[in-house]
Amino acid sequence: MKTDKYIKNYINGVLVPAASGEYLDNYNPSTGEVYSHIPDSDEEDVQQAYEAAERAFPEWSTMGVNKRFRILQRIADIIEQNMEAFAQAETMDNGKSINLSRTVDIPRAQSNIRFFATAVLHFSSESHFMEHPQSINYTLRRPIGVVGCISPWNLPLYLFTWKIAPALATGNCVVAKPSEVTPMTAYLLSKACKEAGLPAGVLNIVHGLGGKAGRAIVGHPKIKAISFTGGTNTGREIASIAAPMFKKMSLELGGKNPNIIFADCDFDKMMIGTLRSSFTNNGQVCLCGSRILVERSIYDKFIEELVKRTQFLKIGDPHSDVTDMGALVSEPHLNKILKYIEIAKSEGGEIQCGGTRIQFEGKLAGGYYMKPAVITNLDMNCRTNQEEIFGPVVTVMPFDTEEEALALANNVEYGLAATVWTKDIQKANRMATKLESGIVWINCFLLRDLRTPFGGMKSSGVGREGGLEALRFFTEPKNVCVKY
Ligand code: NAD
Repeated sequence: MKTDKYIKNYINGVLVPAASGEYLDNYNPSTGEVYSHIPDSDEEDVQQAYEAAERAFPEWSTMGVNKRFRILQRIADIIEQNMEAFAQAETMDNGKSINLSRTVDIPRAQSNIRFFATAVLHFSSESHFMEHPQSINYTLRRPIGVVGCISPWNLPLYLFTWKIAPALATGNCVVAKPSEVTPMTAYLLSKACKEAGLPAGVLNIVHGLGGKAGRAIVGHPKIKAISFTGGTNTGREIASIAAPMFKKMSLELGGKNPNIIFADCDFDKMMIGTLRSSFTNNGQVCLCGSRILVERSIYDKFIEELVKRTQFLKIGDPHSDVTDMGALVSEPHLNKILKYIEIAKSEGGEIQCGGTRIQFEGKLAGGYYMKPAVITNLDMNCRTNQEEIFGPVVTVMPFDTEEEALALANNVEYGLAATVWTKDIQKANRMATKLESGIVWINCFLLRDLRTPFGGMKSSGVGREGGLEALRFFTEPKNVCVKY
């Protein structure tokens, strides 16, 4: 499957430019060069996408789950057959290492589609029998109609399909917008949908800026639900528009996740897990553990080992098989992270390693690379420990008691994910119960079962994705009461 220099919108089953004819530049983060262009869509494109979706809805929503299942499986098959092309495109667009695209992003994108295509075959609803007067209530779950899906740049196709697949499987038609920073694999997906015979208008992909195309989706009076993943401030803005319109909303937002390490953990397994939870995808995963809390008795040993292993990570050309960490996604994002390193220093932080831009020679000279940073000596209330940085930066703090670890962990506005390392299962479960976090991993990180509820509390979001939660979100329950 071929990438193109000029990406197109996918509206009513056809690949088309934006109505305005305008394009935005799309950068290759590994070189800093503009390598393609994306449609600069606006309200007019969203309206066309909406109308196509509205026309497609009656047939798609009533064709039956078996037919929908078969079409969605064909889309997943095409992604699988073109795995390498998708992986190369993802790495080119995002700067992430090719190993990650090959082993995580693209395989997971196709399994998202298969998971929801099959999940809907087994989806059932409740019934309630009543004795007096004798009657039965049953819950009908029908598709909502035309829904909007908006996704971020960090796991481009993975998170795009995580929304679109349950929306389509349950019989909705979709107007979707991928991030303008990483549009390419969504474009390839639109080609896959055409090839798979997805009926025209069932899925419409509108490319462009959040404040323009994204806002037009959120504010469209007839798009009935918004599933959004992105930053907390964007989520707040979306909620302020969609809530007064009484749209159903699922908001998956930012995080500032604690990684809590007790002295009684399996040290080696914990170190492997911690390196992953700190720097996977350059720390650009909402679930990464950016605040590491370590029991004081192993604090010095931990810092020494973490710094050693961090310095050993190979940073470079994301297309190379031996690269651990590629480029950051964009120059503004790199600059934001470097600014946080300065903030950390001004707050008294000690940089144990990294935190500087890497300037390569040759073809990578214009790319956005930095050395992953480990920072100590910071107070939990400082900006570095309170604000989401979303890059290869972790802070490490000691604690003395379980209560103190818990208080430090919960002392942020976010509540997305937490990791706990200990061999004491009682302690692990006590922590899990009290952590203000939508997801808790015990002695593991990013171990994902697609059936589980996924999402955050506090400023990390509203609602849950995954498994039944997603099938329920994308359907409208209706109670029918039948008296005997
Ligand atoms: P972002 O909020 O800037 O953008 C996300 C998407 O929203 C993009 O498609 C963007 O174009 C669109 N958008 C921006 N402004 C909009 C508006 N006013 N109306 C409608 N759409 C708009 O986020 P980002 O920088 O792309 O992604 C990074 C953020 O995403 C981080 O905060 C990260 O924690 C979060 N994230 C959360 C999860 C999760 O599951 N909770 C997963 C991945 C990323």
